[in-house]
Amino acid sequence: MPVHAHGTEVRETPLRAEPAARTVAKPKPGSPRVVIIGGGGTGAAIAWDLVLRGCSVILLERGELTSGTTGRHHGQMHCGARYAVGDRSIARECMDETRILRRLVPDAIEYNGGLFVALNDADADFAPTFIDACLEAGIPARETSLASALSMEPNLIPTIRRAVWVPDGTLDAFRLPLAFFASARSRGADIRAFTEVVGIDVERGAVVSVLALDRVSGSECRLPADLVVNATGAWSTKTCALAGAAIEVTPAPGTMVAVEGRLCNMVVSHLHPAGDGDIIVPQRNLSIIGSTQRSVDDPDDSAVRRDEVEALLSYADAMLPGFSSRPVHAAWTAARPLAGRSGDEGRSISRDFVAVDHESSGGPKGFVSAIGGKATVLRAMAEKTADLACTKLGLVSPCSTRETPLSPYRDFFKGRD
Ligand SMILES: Cc1cc2nc3c(=O)[nH]c(=O)nc-3n(C[C@H](O)[C@H](O)[C@H](O)COP(=O)(O)OP(=O)(O)OC[C@H]3O[C@@H](n4cnc5c(N)ncnc54)[C@H](O)[C@@H]3O)c2cc1C
Repeated sequence: MPVHAHGTEVRETPLRAEPAARTVAKPKPGSPRVVIIGGGGTGAAIAWDLVLRGCSVILLERGELTSGTTGRHHGQMHCGARYAVGDRSIARECMDETRILRRLVPDAIEYNGGLFVALNDADADFAPTFIDACLEAGIPARETSLASALSMEPNLIPTIRRAVWVPDGTLDAFRLPLAFFASARSRGADIRAFTEVVGIDVERGAVVSVLALDRVSGSECRLPADLVVNATGAWSTKTCALAGAAIEVTPAPGTMVAVEGRLCNMVVSHLHPAGDGDIIVPQRNLSIIGSTQRSVDDPDDSAVRRDEVEALLSYADAMLPGFSSRPVHAAWTAARPLAGRSGDEGRSISRDFVAVDHESSGGPKGFVSAIGGKATVLRAMAEKTADLACTKLGLVSPCSTRETPLSPYRDFFKGRD
């Protein structure tokens, strides 16, 4: 039986959203019709936001739900500390969203905290800058004694120079978006997996419908839309081209390696400016080191490279000696959807999120894209995109996802055997 990197058995049955055998709210007749392309966390959260604002939503995913970058990320609930020195506003947003997610989706989060460790003099000198930046971003970072750090994380290399506690955590890459899918569906969203958008129809300068291919039956259908939201992440260049629109996105694959055994309790990070292999996330009974970063033209060009795996294992050993001697459970790659273009490996591109109105750059009316960001901030990304979508639709309806309870992720499977 194949096994997913995070330790779960790969599902033989697809995550296809079957119609639930229970009462589902129906959108009101005359509601604006929105088609969302892409069934990752971003699409899921946008679907939830827009149904709450009164839209009639159809979400189309070419594969299984979460089969893109969403189902393959590192599983870190970023409190923002990693970004605090470089970009306070991203860091602050991560911290805010961490607080919201802990309230909305407790079942998807292990609130285990994080430890940034200084491995050498340069790292130790960086600590005050790091702590100040975190505090300025509203992240309650605090230096902890070496004895305390080593008692919390006995497998840490004993020569660490300094350690800083931050409110990071572990999140479940599947349960988080499934809670949004389940909630959106309970309010009437039509969520279709294995349905690829192969065309976007534009008439008199405005998007009017999408052409969808059912990849199971091979049949095609046209779905009318008042607005189309592209949430295809690293695949956005191709999706936008279907509507005759352009977008700047760099697919930036990163590799992660999971070894058997939970070698740390918290998320352990190297205390230095961001680089490769500087985060170890404990996930179920695995420890995951990640990641690397390079940029490619085709997001499906994501083969794992042996040199990356070897480098990652050696970075992990520097923090948790013996990491590389554990049995390797899996190594895999996922493509970051970085908003912008870069000639380098993409590290110079911001990790920020943008909601793009294509009409404002000569593209068709009624077409918007959601690009970039992180799984941790999916709700905030959806709020910004749905704000833009509502403006385009002339719909006055504020966001209510901060306070509206989400369905438990298990509800996604209701109505199935
Ligand atoms: C190596 C790595 C590690 C990461 N670690 C973390 C982490 O620890 N914590 C964190 O918060 N974030 C992390 N991230 C970021 C996070 O994974 C992404 O920001 C997030 O998953 C993006 O979700 P998305 O829904 O925008 O994209 P995706 O999940 O990629 O969804 C896009 C979907 O669109 C579908 N699609 C494409 N074309 C079509 C079409 N024509 N028709 C229908 N569907 C289509 C694809 O199949 C795909 O499922 C990491 C990213 C990487 C690469």
